[in-house]
Amino acid sequence: MSSNKLKEFNTVVKDSSSVNVLFGYCYPSTYRAGMTGLALHIFYAILNSREDTSCERYFRYDTPSPALSVDSQRPLKHNHIIGFSLTYEEDIVNLVQMLDSGDVPVLSEKRTEDDPLVIVGGPVITANPEPFVDFVDAFVIGEGDAIIHDIVDAVASGSSRKEVLAQFAELNGVYVPTIPRLNIDRNIILDLDSLEYPISQIVPDVPEDSRLEPVFGKSFLLEVTRGCGHSCRFCLIGHVCQPRRTRSLDRLKYLVNMGIENTPVGKVSMIGSSLGDLDGLESLVCWTVDQGLGVSVPSLRADSVSEPLLECLVKSGQRTLTIAPETGSQDLRKSIGKGLQNSDIENAVEVAARSGYNALKLYFIIGLPGETDDDIKASVDMIINLAKASSLKVTANINPFIPKAQTRWEREPQPPIEELRRKLKLIERGVKGRVKVTIESLDPRNARIQAALSIGDRSLGRVIRNAATYGGYGGWRRAEKETGIPFFSLANDAERLQNELPWSFLRK
Ligand code: SF4
Repeated sequence: MSSNKLKEFNTVVKDSSSVNVLFGYCYPSTYRAGMTGLALHIFYAILNSREDTSCERYFRYDTPSPALSVDSQRPLKHNHIIGFSLTYEEDIVNLVQMLDSGDVPVLSEKRTEDDPLVIVGGPVITANPEPFVDFVDAFVIGEGDAIIHDIVDAVASGSSRKEVLAQFAELNGVYVPTIPRLNIDRNIILDLDSLEYPISQIVPDVPEDSRLEPVFGKSFLLEVTRGCGHSCRFCLIGHVCQPRRTRSLDRLKYLVNMGIENTPVGKVSMIGSSLGDLDGLESLVCWTVDQGLGVSVPSLRADSVSEPLLECLVKSGQRTLTIAPETGSQDLRKSIGKGLQNSDIENAVEVAARSGYNALKLYFIIGLPGETDDDIKASVDMIINLAKASSLKVTANINPFIPKAQTRWEREPQPPIEELRRKLKLIERGVKGRVKVTIESLDPRNARIQAALSIGDRSLGRVIRNAATYGGYGGWRRAEKETGIPFFSLANDAERLQNELPWSFLRK
């Protein structure tokens, strides 16, 4: 793809000589994934709303160069601040490669007054920034919407890197690894209604199903809630984004009206965890459909699915119900903190079929603490029975358990790769020959990498650096060998997880 072929609506390009602060917002993966995330739209809008700042975007893949902005080809190195959102642990390799390709020293200790400051945020960082300290000047712990103004102010007024970093370290929820602090609090914004919200969102002018089209299609992203009212023992969002907050119905309707007026799309993608818990969801969805708009909602908790809600979603064009039983075993589901009954799941699927849905997506986890082969069999039975009992095509997505920092299962070891593979095979064999059933899965090897980066400490910097040099899965293996750090068995080391945890200085 060449840059002049990518047309986008609602971009903002300022004369860089007329502003004080140049901000490079980087997404360390594909253009499609970055444009699907709300964080990009939020920070682009907030930063460009400041007269003194110009924010432009960079992506690791699918643009002419990760070192040139898609907005105006501004070189990465010309920015005063480079900000990354790290959503998936493995993307740290892409982050390092982006810095390298932009001629920004990869190690923070090597950066000079001529180099940008590198700041990183996102849920992965909020849980445990320690494995990434070698590459980052400052981390944002928690939500960055409000603190980003203080960060930019510090850069605009600071006369040296040292002075700016000292100012950063004074800010709530900003962690500067070179300036030790006893404890760091998490930034949480309690009143969502009071927040600035991106009304004019960037939309790529690409054909439907283009690989550059955002995952939910061309739509206005509407953040309905933050956090989750549940806290399933394994779930990062259920722990680091507490408490659950919602926007008011009036504010949401206002945002839809303004968003559709200013963003050239005919669809609203609602964002939030466990959205079905929201009292007004049915009313909001049906009202949006009545405005003649398409609607997409993410995974719903099975116990929150109602017939009127699903009927409105069908009218809006949604045909796939996504729910996450996590396991077919009711007892194991109870022990992971997800209080769903099997009957809730069966009922949700029955209602979906009656309402006109034609597909069902189910999320399962294998390798959960305390799991037996009978629990795996219960998942197989659930997949088969739901496919049999309804007309829906079923896709079961199987993910290995990944212990995450700051969750109640942060100290639980992840089973060895061979064990995860064996359990995956049990499921694949169990559903073999069922024409309406498809199995998708995360490779246990990638789950191993994610787990190590989730619960690791700062010694992993060397592994990450080598893995970024070589690239791919083989790069991680080679990095393990060269550094002598037992990276792939880290999350399986039950003894190590009994010691003081690397993220213990972050206040919950
Ligand atoms: S798994 Fe879902 S319901 Fe449970 S805490 Fe996470 S987001 Fe909430």
